[in-house]
Amino acid sequence: MKSRPLLAVSACLLGYSVRYDGGDKYEPWIVEVLGKVADFLPICPEEGIGLGTPRPPIRLAGPPDRPRAQGIADPSLDVTGRLRAYALEMLPQLGNVSGYILKSRSPSCGLRGVKLFADGERYSREGTGIYAAFIAAHLPHLPLVDEEELRDPRLREEFFGKIGLRLKT
Ligand code: SF4
Repeated sequence: MKSRPLLAVSACLLGYSVRYDGGDKYEPWIVEVLGKVADFLPICPEEGIGLGTPRPPIRLAGPPDRPRAQGIADPSLDVTGRLRAYALEMLPQLGNVSGYILKSRSPSCGLRGVKLFADGERYSREGTGIYAAFIAAHLPHLPLVDEEELRDPRLREEFFGKIGLRLKT
């Protein structure tokens, strides 16, 4: 029997109540359809660095090449270094997964198009989450996708091709 792929997944997408507001971002298709043929490794970097839940929300701020993850209410709360250190710690475990499904638009997990605040309330969509950027840079061959991309049949097929999974959807 062919073994099931192990996929790392942002824990909030699996229904874990780990968001800053104590909620989740349960994605039924991932859990109820993909979960029939794959196993999941849930990861929440903001929990992982000890911010706790609920917690003050953070956002990306600064220039695109040097973004920081800072508290919205209190910018002196800067968790950039802690998120990178956590990503470094996770690299060995991620060496054993076939792919990674990340939460879109998150200042930690978002792969692209994350709000990046320049000054005050002005922002672009040029950001990548601090944790996700570190993982992408250090594991360039690990297939990465977010839950919004998985809703697009073409991008879903592309991701499945990379992890060697065939799934009728
Ligand atoms: S997006 Fe990432 S950091 Fe935010 S709650 Fe989900 S898993 Fe945790």
